[in-house]
Amino acid sequence: MTEILLIKAGELVLKGNNRRTFEQQLVRNLRRALEPLGQWQFSLQQSTLQVIPANSQMDMHRAAAHVGQVFGIAGYSRALRLPKSMDAILEHCAPYLDEQLVGVRTFKCEAKRADKTFPLNSPQICAKVGEQLLNAFPHLKVDVHKPDVTVNIEVRDQYAFIHANQIRGAGGLPVGTAGDAAILISGGIDSPVAAWMMARRGLRLAAIHFASPPYTSQRAEEKVHKLLGQVAGYSGRIRLFVVPFTAIQEQIKTRCPEELFTLIMRRVMMRVSEIIAQRENCGALITGESLGQVASQTLEALACTDAATTMPVFRPLIGMDKDEAVQIARQIGTFDISILPYEDCCTVFTPRRPRTRPKLSLVEQAESALDLDTMIDEAIEGTKYMAIDA
Ligand code: ATP
Ligand code: MG
Repeated sequence: MTEILLIKAGELVLKGNNRRTFEQQLVRNLRRALEPLGQWQFSLQQSTLQVIPANSQMDMHRAAAHVGQVFGIAGYSRALRLPKSMDAILEHCAPYLDEQLVGVRTFKCEAKRADKTFPLNSPQICAKVGEQLLNAFPHLKVDVHKPDVTVNIEVRDQYAFIHANQIRGAGGLPVGTAGDAAILISGGIDSPVAAWMMARRGLRLAAIHFASPPYTSQRAEEKVHKLLGQVAGYSGRIRLFVVPFTAIQEQIKTRCPEELFTLIMRRVMMRVSEIIAQRENCGALITGESLGQVASQTLEALACTDAATTMPVFRPLIGMDKDEAVQIARQIGTFDISILPYEDCCTVFTPRRPRTRPKLSLVEQAESALDLDTMIDEAIEGTKYMAIDA
């Protein structure tokens, strides 16, 4: 008798011939997420994964919390694994569920019987377990329509399992199954959300942050470390590149029209990011831009930004309202970090009247006043690398 975690894979179960690859990546990611808590054994049958602790001292509560942050999982639960006998099920169901039935008024039982040789069928299993629980917890009532808790009994090939409500998993696809991409991360609300959303679709993340000391402080950079640390709880390790951006911004400011400052800055960010991304085997850039949010995010401005790179640019927030991004930021724990008041390089020089419908040819003409190649080389040269973990 052992308490384990029962995990139901998500969308990856739809992946025909590639399914094995997705499952193996999910197991690798789970292994990494659970490693700090001890040794675990993984056993995969159909689309259900059993995660078995090496000993009974392990913190299953924390383990469940870690599992809740791993992408590629539809749902999970702590479950008691028992010998496949009705006696064992009846003996252990009440004591095991005791804690989870505190404050609960109604329940129902659901039984699944994969092993058709088991002497009782599913309705009979439910009836017995239901009776046992009603006897053990006289305050409980059965409600088959809207129960507070559903008690599941699964009789599989080797073992029987008892668990209460399944908890919703983080969804998406296992990180690493979609390749690599680089998130352009600021200290704002949107870009960490964009990072999380794309990691959820299976991308492994590199991150690029442009810093403009002394206009931006060390604290602003540490804020980015914190934000990425929070995202890394879901995505696993993030490779961070911090690019010195002061000289570039100063040159744009002195040599280009003020109304194009932000746009040209963003185009240079794209160019530098593309170089770093290619070196890091990334197939795409990611930003937190959302259509129409600010002058540099109008259709025309985004087209000019895209023209600076040949890489695909993923903008998962493009069709979202700010309050929707805020809601995700709260849910993933980045919001409170994002609202810390440190200057970002984008706010260092802001044009008074930015152009909202820029023309690419005019932007390119304005850029010809810059020593772009030299400046980009120097920025890449001065880039600092660090690995960010949760
Ligand atoms: P965020 O909340 O992510 O800062 P935002 O709505 O404030 O987004 P902008 O400041 O215009 O918008 O930035 C748009 C996008 O450009 C950001 O989502 C991010 O992907 C990228 N970006 C902005 N500033 C930086 C920076 N200092 N370093 C790297 N990328 C940046
Ligand atoms: Mg910003």
